[in-house]
Amino acid sequence: MSLDGAYDEANPFALILQGKIPSTRLYEDDHTLAFLDIMPQSKGHSLVISKWSKARNILEVEDEALAQVMATVKKVAVATRTALSPDGIHVAQFNGAPAGQTVFHLHVHIVPRWAGGPAGFSAHGQGPMADLAALQAIANEIRAQF
Ligand code: 5GP
Repeated sequence: MSLDGAYDEANPFALILQGKIPSTRLYEDDHTLAFLDIMPQSKGHSLVISKWSKARNILEVEDEALAQVMATVKKVAVATRTALSPDGIHVAQFNGAPAGQTVFHLHVHIVPRWAGGPAGFSAHGQGPMADLAALQAIANEIRAQF
């Protein structure tokens, strides 16, 4: 998919917001939602989305929605650090399929990283499907920090 196009109301994150598919939620407020990635690049890999913006990417997003999303990214990064003690945190956002975007509802990735190499780390889009019970356990650790 190119950078241009119409917002698909049936994309996975729209379905999560509509309550049609489950997600392992970490945090939400009136404007944003944070949840664990279902194919995590590392332990605690999460995503933050706007609840109201229909922006597919950063080129389209309203300044207000972007500010709300990034404020939540910071909160989740802080909680993730406290819960999981990573040595680094990779924050990423992809625009258009050639850049690696697969879900066309603007989102920001928060990927904890540990020193000493890629053990347990997958490249973007290469993570295996997570065990849902394991995701719940990680979410409980992070949620406890809010
Ligand atoms: P993108 O490649 O668009 O930047 O990132 C999309 C991310 O969403 C990927 O890391 C992928 O694993 C994740 N993802 C795709 N579908 C779902 C889903 O239904 N639930 C959750 N929690 N994550 C999803």
